[in-house]
Amino acid sequence: MTTAAFSALAGPIARAVAKVRELHCPPPTYRPNAPVSAHMTCPKCGSRLNFKVTTEGHTSGRCVAAACIRWSMQ
Ligand SMILES: [Zn+2]
Repeated sequence: MTTAAFSALAGPIARAVAKVRELHCPPPTYRPNAPVSAHMTCPKCGSRLNFKVTTEGHTSGRCVAAACIRWSMQ
C-alpha cells in the first residue's frame, strides 16, 4: 500500500526509475538490448541525472546535485 508520506519521500526516485524504464525497457522483455548509460533531467531539482541500465533491466542513477536523488539496482 502506498501512503501519502511514502509517496512524498519516494516520489522523485520512483518517477525517475519509471521514466528510465519507459525509455529503455520496452515490453515484452522489459530490458535493453545493450547496456545503457545516459542522462536526463532530474525530476526533483532539474539538474543532470546520470543513469545506467543493465541488460538484466536493473537501473541505477545519481543526480549531480549534492544530497539529491540516487538509487541503485532497481
Ligand atoms: Zn536532482
